[in-house]
Amino acid sequence: MTYDLIVAGAGSAGAALAWMAASRGLRVLVLDRRPLERAGATWINDVPGWMFDEAGVARPSGDERHESATTHFFAGEAKPGDVPMRKVRPKEFLGVDMRALVARLQNAARDAGAELVGEEAVRAVAPSGHEVRVTTGSTTYVARHFVDASGLAGVDALGPHHATPRDTCVASQEVRHVRDLDAARAYFDERGAKDGDVLLYAGVAGGYSILNVRRHGDRVFLLSGTIPADGHPSGRHVVDDFVRRHDFLGEREFGGARAIPLVYPRPIVARGRVAALGDAAGQVFSAHGSGVGTGLVAARMLDDALAAGDLRHYQRAFQRRFGLQLATQDLFRRFTQDLSLEETSAMLGEGVLSDAFLMRVLAQRAPRPDLGLLRGARVLARRPALARRLGRVAGQVAQVAALYVRMPDEPRSQDRWAARVHRAMRWQ
Ligand SMILES: Cc1cc2nc3c(=O)[nH]c(=O)nc-3n(C[C@H](O)[C@H](O)[C@H](O)COP(=O)(O)OP(=O)(O)OC[C@H]3O[C@@H](n4cnc5c(N)ncnc54)[C@H](O)[C@@H]3O)c2cc1C
Repeated sequence: MTYDLIVAGAGSAGAALAWMAASRGLRVLVLDRRPLERAGATWINDVPGWMFDEAGVARPSGDERHESATTHFFAGEAKPGDVPMRKVRPKEFLGVDMRALVARLQNAARDAGAELVGEEAVRAVAPSGHEVRVTTGSTTYVARHFVDASGLAGVDALGPHHATPRDTCVASQEVRHVRDLDAARAYFDERGAKDGDVLLYAGVAGGYSILNVRRHGDRVFLLSGTIPADGHPSGRHVVDDFVRRHDFLGEREFGGARAIPLVYPRPIVARGRVAALGDAAGQVFSAHGSGVGTGLVAARMLDDALAAGDLRHYQRAFQRRFGLQLATQDLFRRFTQDLSLEETSAMLGEGVLSDAFLMRVLAQRAPRPDLGLLRGARVLARRPALARRLGRVAGQVAQVAALYVRMPDEPRSQDRWAARVHRAMRWQ
C-alpha cells in the first residue's frame, strides 16, 4: 500500500500527471470517486493547441478533435439579420471531446504502470514526516507525495477553496442532433454564420454570461455559462430554454453541467509533500472559465518537481509562469460581471477590446498593448463611469503585479505573501 505518488482525481489534470510520473518510473495510484469512464469533463471543451505542446501531450486528433471556425460576437442573443459586433478566428483553438482525451490520458497512465481505481473517494489526507497517509472509506494508503486533482468540489487538501458564490460559474455544454436541417441552416445563415462557426452571445443573461451556438453538419453544439449568485439562471437553464425555443434541435447526444471556479490560482499550490493541481488549485483562465490547458501544463511542471524530489520547484515554476496572468484575467472577469448589456455592446462594438486582444484572450495568452487601446481610450473618454471602473481594475492589477514579482522562496514567508495576495485580490 506504499506509493511514490497518490493522485485524487482521474480527470484531465490528474490523469495527465499520473501518466507523466509513471512514465518516469514512479509508483503511482490514482483514486477517483466516480467510475473511471465518467471521471473529469464529459463534454466538448476548447483548448488552445499551444498548451498541449507546452505540456508535452500529443494534440487531439481523429474523433477526439472537433474543428473550430470563426467566432461571431454579439451582445445578447442575435436576431435574424443582426450583424456581429466582432468576428475573430482563433488560429490555435481545438475543440476537444473531453471523454476521449481523459480516456487517452488514463490509458497512457495505465500503460506506463500507474494503478487507477474508480468509485473510491479520498476522505482524509494526513502528511506526517516523510510520508502522507491517504484514507478512503475502506483503506489507508501511504505515499511519499499526494496531489489533489479532485476539482472544485473535491478534497481541499491544501485548505478550503477561495471561490465565493460570486466566483462560481455554472456551465453546461451539450451536443444535439439536428431534427430539421433546413431550419437549422436558416438559423445560422440569417445570422451570417457558416457551418462550423460559433455564434457567441455575450451577456445573454446579464453580466458575465454567455451562450455559444455552433452547427457542424447535422449536429449542434450548445454551451452556456452564468453566475447564479448574480441572480442569473444557470447555464443549464439557458441551454434548456434555447432548446425549447428552437424546433430544429433534436435529441441530446451527450454533454454535462458543472460549476467552474472563476478564481485566481491558489497562491500556495504546494506545501511539503502535498500539492494541488487543475481546478482544485484554481488553475483556471477565469475570463472564460477554461481550465484544461493550464491543468495540463501545470501537470508537467509538477512532474518535473516530483522528479527533483522537491515540490517547491512546482510552487515557483507555476506562480512565475501563470500566477500574475491568471490573477489579471480574474480581475478582468469581475469587471465584466458588472457590465450592462449596453456596456458590453460598447466594449465589443466600439472596439474598446481590439481583435488582437480578443484573439489572445481566447487563446489564453497574456494580452499585449496595441493600437486598439488608443481607440478604446477615446471611447472610454465618452463613458467616464466605465473608464473609472476599468481604471480601478488597472490599479488593482498593478498592486497584484508588484506582489507576484516578489514571491518569496521560503515556505513561512510564502504564507505571509499568500495572505497579501488574498488581500490584494479581494472584491472592491
Ligand atoms: C460546461 C463546461 C464547459 C467548459 N468549457 C471549457 C473549455 O471550453 N475549455 C476549458 O479549458 N475548460 C472548460 N471548462 C472547464 C474544464 O472542464 C475544467 O477546468 C477541467 O475539467 C478541470 O479538470 P480537472 O482534472 O482539474 O478536474 P475535473 O475535471 O473536475 O476532475 C476532477 C476529478 O476528481 C474526482 N473527485 C472529486 N472528489 C474526489 C475525491 N474526494 N476523491 C477522489 N476523486 C475525487 C471527480 O470525480 C473528477 O473525476 C468547462 C467546464 C464546464 C462545466
